[in-house]
Amino acid sequence: MAFKPANNIQDLQYFGEFGGVNPSISDSSTYTFLSAKTMFDTFEGNADGCYLYSRHSSPSNLYLGEALAAMEGTETATVTASGMGAITPVLLQLCGNGDHIVSSRTIYGGTYAFLKNFTPRLGIETSFVDITKLDIVEAAITENTKILYCESVSNPLLEVADVKGLADLAKKYNLQLVVDNTFSPLSISPKNLGADIVIHSLTKFINGSSDTVGGVVCGSQDMIDQLRNVNDGAAMLLGSTMDSLRSASVLKNLRTLHIRMQQHSKNALFLAEKFEGLDLKTVYPGLKSHPSHELFTSMMNDKYGYGGMLTIDVGSLDKANSLMELMQDRNLGYLAVSLGFYKTLFSAPGSSTSSEIPEDEQAEMGLSDGLIRFSIGLDADIERTFEMMHKCMKDLSIL
Ligand SMILES: *Cc1c(COP(=O)(O)O)cnc(C)c1O
Repeated sequence: MAFKPANNIQDLQYFGEFGGVNPSISDSSTYTFLSAKTMFDTFEGNADGCYLYSRHSSPSNLYLGEALAAMEGTETATVTASGMGAITPVLLQLCGNGDHIVSSRTIYGGTYAFLKNFTPRLGIETSFVDITKLDIVEAAITENTKILYCESVSNPLLEVADVKGLADLAKKYNLQLVVDNTFSPLSISPKNLGADIVIHSLTKFINGSSDTVGGVVCGSQDMIDQLRNVNDGAAMLLGSTMDSLRSASVLKNLRTLHIRMQQHSKNALFLAEKFEGLDLKTVYPGLKSHPSHELFTSMMNDKYGYGGMLTIDVGSLDKANSLMELMQDRNLGYLAVSLGFYKTLFSAPGSSTSSEIPEDEQAEMGLSDGLIRFSIGLDADIERTFEMMHKCMKDLSIL
């Protein structure tokens, strides 16, 4: 049966304390107990429905976590203060001194920096590979490997991971497949395709209003319990907890995600086809020219399309910079990192979000100087947007 992530979110019902249509916000860091015994049991995690302290859990965080678990089809989830605050505890929970990770080489700059520069200090080594080549991934697995790590659609090159193929490898070698699904919420459901753990930066499409950072880890009850264990849970002890007020506001935004994703995808596909028609080197998974177009199509859920992210290459960093500045001047979007806003956002990844990646490695993975990454907004009139962008390109003699 087809997986329907938006239905799963919609079918949840939470009421507020006084019958409010939104759940009450737990605006407290600590909770009282009528009996000292219950306090002890709660600390040990043996008193269901009781709260002790809001770094451990809070009703508001549980509501948001359960909604995101419903979306990803996992048993449960835990929300965190940022996407990196979700990624780093998962990697540290599953790996220790001597362990090894096989990761896609095209991943978010912060994740790359963590694996490349930080975890080696703890004795954790990572091999970075071309994730689209399963034989290369398999060849990188060693007896110490614990994790296969990838993004379903990668930042910034929009490579698509074969989640089913990777899940088969993970099973064969007894590894955990961890997938960052930030670029493709609702479109791709990695758990449904065999992933063990699904992570999001909620900062992007899911919250969608560029007013906060946030993250989530979706996984089995056992994995989430481990992360939250008071004695040795990385999420618990590293302390990247989301604030209750914020989780309540993210939950409200989550309710329009399905509509927003459809519009982001529709607008991005329109622009990608137009850009490609101008002979600009355009990368968008919805284009037939994308090397993983068929793979994406085979994995995607109905309706939500190929997402809101696309890249074009205008030949040089100077041209990329002038085009972005001009588009901003003409109010076509903002020269800003991040993604998933109502307004189009653009940046040159080589000198911003992926600048953690050394230049020679950038070149090797196809991250060229003239690359502009777009997060396409919710524009009501995308034809007009295209015409105005086209005019910017002509005015700068880019075409
Ligand atoms: C932004 C991003 C992250 C990091 O999330 P933060 O909320 O900024 O900590 C991780 N992965 C991807 C794919 C991202 O785009």
